[in-house]
Amino acid sequence: MESHATKQQAEPRADMNTTQSYFQTELERRRASLQAATLANVTDHSLQQLINSVDEALARLNTGTFGICEVCHDTIEADRLLCNPLLRFCLDHLSNDEQRALERDLTLAAGIQRGLLPRPDWSVGNWHARYHYEPASQVSGDYFDLIDGDDSFLFLLGDVSGKGVAASMLMSHLHATFRTLASQNMALQQLIGNANRLFCESTTAGQYVTLVVGRAWHDGKVEYASAGHLPLLHVSPKGIYSKTATGVPLGMFCSTEFPVCHLQLEPGDSLFLYTDGLTEVFDDHGAEYGLARVESLVAMHAAKSPDQMLAECLREVRNFTAGAKRTDDLTLLVMRHTD
Ligand SMILES: [Zn+2]
Repeated sequence: MESHATKQQAEPRADMNTTQSYFQTELERRRASLQAATLANVTDHSLQQLINSVDEALARLNTGTFGICEVCHDTIEADRLLCNPLLRFCLDHLSNDEQRALERDLTLAAGIQRGLLPRPDWSVGNWHARYHYEPASQVSGDYFDLIDGDDSFLFLLGDVSGKGVAASMLMSHLHATFRTLASQNMALQQLIGNANRLFCESTTAGQYVTLVVGRAWHDGKVEYASAGHLPLLHVSPKGIYSKTATGVPLGMFCSTEFPVCHLQLEPGDSLFLYTDGLTEVFDDHGAEYGLARVESLVAMHAAKSPDQMLAECLREVRNFTAGAKRTDDLTLLVMRHTD
């Protein structure tokens, strides 16, 4: 999902001078630590090299070239600079060694992310879930989890603003937040309200997530709240019922309510959830796949097993895009309620 600066408008954040002074303070703090370490360990020359790098970064701050790539003179990615203020090159102009290190990190991050997913043959009581989770590159900004409870379970599916590593870090943050809150046994509205507040307080401007959070009971009763996410589809032999968002995206406003809606699923009914990697794909004439096509696709395959429904969706989307390279993360979830 593309990032927007909505939160920035709602809650004015730091201007450039504050950013400069943040990096100034941060670099000086690091320099002092390095200096202290050099005094304790005179034989380690890497410490002196680091001090030189910090001094160079401080000099760049003074001359106004801090955060500018030395090759293309474009700005270095802000999230990378926050993690490492010594950076001198944008992602496109890393050295070969830096590129290899980044690829190793990404492979590791992708493994960690896959480890956060529910097991692929997830079933609890008379609910059976099947999903497809496909990052556009190595790591995904899509968030998906199923959390078992005593007489019910939570389902969560969302799309974090931005792409790539920064989005995947927010996704892991969200995963940890909801896993922690879920253990507290609170009402759904309170759960999502608390998660929103925590997310707001720990992220920067323009970072948010569209998300469906729901709870399902063994008798087919379902409650859900949708924080600005694409419509959830209730799939039944009688038809497809599209349920639109009930609130704004998570992380956009610190104090906002997320109204909870209720559904009753009959045996054989399903819930179908997805991210914009399904709706916002284009054919070779530039036409978008869109919600209407998703609804008719799901209606056409409503009687099939969850595995078959997923396979049909993937086949249809690949046909539609004529095999073009995916630019958005894709997550699909079918939850079937049975006798
Ligand atoms: Zn560059």
